[in-house]
Amino acid sequence: MMDEDICSQLTSQTVEKIGQFSQEEFIERAKMFHGCVSPGVLLGGIMVSAAKELLPEGILFDAICETYSCLPDAVQILTPCTIGNGWMRILDYGRYAVSLYDKYEGDGYRVYLDVKKLKDWNEVHSWFLKLKLKHDQDNIRLKDQILSAGKQICSIQKIHVKSGFRTNRSKGLIAICGLCGEAYPVKDGVVCSACQQEKPFVMQGRV
Ligand code: ZN
Repeated sequence: MMDEDICSQLTSQTVEKIGQFSQEEFIERAKMFHGCVSPGVLLGGIMVSAAKELLPEGILFDAICETYSCLPDAVQILTPCTIGNGWMRILDYGRYAVSLYDKYEGDGYRVYLDVKKLKDWNEVHSWFLKLKLKHDQDNIRLKDQILSAGKQICSIQKIHVKSGFRTNRSKGLIAICGLCGEAYPVKDGVVCSACQQEKPFVMQGRV
């Protein structure tokens, strides 16, 4: 597998730490959690650490990812914020950006991969803008560039997350759907939200 020798083949100066982990530890954890060390999860790790190191020590923070690709896994490797505990949300804008912010006050930082900063990093540039076919991509060089560039290829914005986006994720009252017979939040309507639209599966009987 192409990820196996990444540590030994890296040539130039690279980031030593990704969040609380050494580069090697992060790569091990990414293999376990994400299944491989994709360029996206590696870059994601760098972006999440860049946001995290700007937050005041000891605060409780939440995360917003603006894509489903790779980045949410970097958040889940490096922070206590997960999809399941509700401390991370994914807004599917398709932008490679992550924000960490004070759960109560809303103040925080948004980090994004900045295309304007990719001039000196040709492999990252062509990967990010999909200018090359996947099999023409030099993966070792790509990851080497990501680890050499570190947060130099990102831009960081100070943000304030509006209160309506921070609070009240409660499901509210629960009802039983008249069509499927399963429990659902009343606020979704007269039947559950699954029964209101086309489902991805057909039922083939009970097991
Ligand atoms: Zn239903």
